[in-house]
Amino acid sequence: METIIASIGKGTAMAFDVSKINIPLGFGCMRFDGRADDTVDIAQVSEMIDCYMEAGGNYFDTAWAYPNSEKTLRKALVERHPRDSYLIASKCVAWSNCTCKEDLEAQLQETLATLGIDYLDVYLMHNLGGTRTASFEKYDAWEFVKSVKERGLAKHIGFSAHCTPEELEGFIAAYPEAEIIQLQANYSDWDSPDFRERECVELAHAHGFPVIAMEPVKGGILADPPQAVRDILDETMSDDSYATAALRFTASQPGIVVTLSGMSTLEQVQDNCRAFRDFKPLDDGELAAIDRARSALKEGGTVQCTSCDYCAKVCPLNIGISQSLAVLNHFINYGDAASAGYQMGFVVRFNAGKSMITECIRCGACEDACPQNLPILEYFDRINDEIFSVEPEQPALMRGSTVGKR
Ligand code: SF4
Ligand code: SF4
Repeated sequence: METIIASIGKGTAMAFDVSKINIPLGFGCMRFDGRADDTVDIAQVSEMIDCYMEAGGNYFDTAWAYPNSEKTLRKALVERHPRDSYLIASKCVAWSNCTCKEDLEAQLQETLATLGIDYLDVYLMHNLGGTRTASFEKYDAWEFVKSVKERGLAKHIGFSAHCTPEELEGFIAAYPEAEIIQLQANYSDWDSPDFRERECVELAHAHGFPVIAMEPVKGGILADPPQAVRDILDETMSDDSYATAALRFTASQPGIVVTLSGMSTLEQVQDNCRAFRDFKPLDDGELAAIDRARSALKEGGTVQCTSCDYCAKVCPLNIGISQSLAVLNHFINYGDAASAGYQMGFVVRFNAGKSMITECIRCGACEDACPQNLPILEYFDRINDEIFSVEPEQPALMRGSTVGKR
């Protein structure tokens, strides 16, 4: 990696004026409550957005692929605030619901119409890396994204990726007009040999790209860490919530200009804004605490699922994959198989309206789509072996209910 960085001339991609970004906290718009069944409370999201903007925030990240996100943003942001008071980034996805080049244009037009705006500030190819990259190449997606900028429909273009540094080096070479790169960065995976986040961020930074950081709280995992991690952070970072400790770590890294937080409640917005209104990078003592927290997290062995639900978009049987893995984490943290068995039916069937993993046909499509490269089927085996082998602790809630059943 050092060899790659040493060969790079800095400052090759600074067309994006980062001074347009008021504070280094971005509003990630993929986690609104009620997004899956279109029951988002617009008044509540409006209040969240107002709170974020009052703290100086002006960067909103959405995507065509996020259920009801663009629609919610139109009502809660676009129809309530002047267009020049915020920046909106959205993304095109070639690996879901896309069968021809024309589908990319249809996605873009849907994005603009749904948001109710004439132009995007940032337009990205969404989630390059692994087998997903081939879909973008198949439909000449970069040529399409460049045409979006040429037509004045996006001010700046780039890509988001969950990838290796080697893949990232290839993307940077293949898309020389890119102005911005969105990458995963959180303290849990920062130096992980599986994720290599530090290497990717340093590589993008060395090329001169402003980096937008996604998944800083790892889909919520770092907001609700195991007790051993809590003990460490409570001792050294007691002014921060577990979520803001994670956000501050990511935002402290050189090259990262925006750290996206997928906020779902007003309390989360208030908590995040408190830490970013007058942002202070982590000091040496706090960085050492984060190092210890990372070690404790690894020893806990929780599943590193971010609940992005990209797997759900390709599953032919509507299996509740992220929901099942969340319950597996509950089991890993608390070791209560009977409770986890009950939770599984409640969370997967009752709350999410999904199918249980017992109906999985093991086609593997979910593993190909997973940006975290999780061995999802191995986790399913573990759920079957360690949770479903134990009787659930409570019966179904109602007569005829599927809650608590497998
Ligand atoms: S392996 Fe199972 S969970 Fe994964 S996509 Fe196929 S049916 Fe769905
Ligand atoms: S299993 Fe992978 S693709 Fe599915 S929600 Fe988790 S991180 Fe996302």
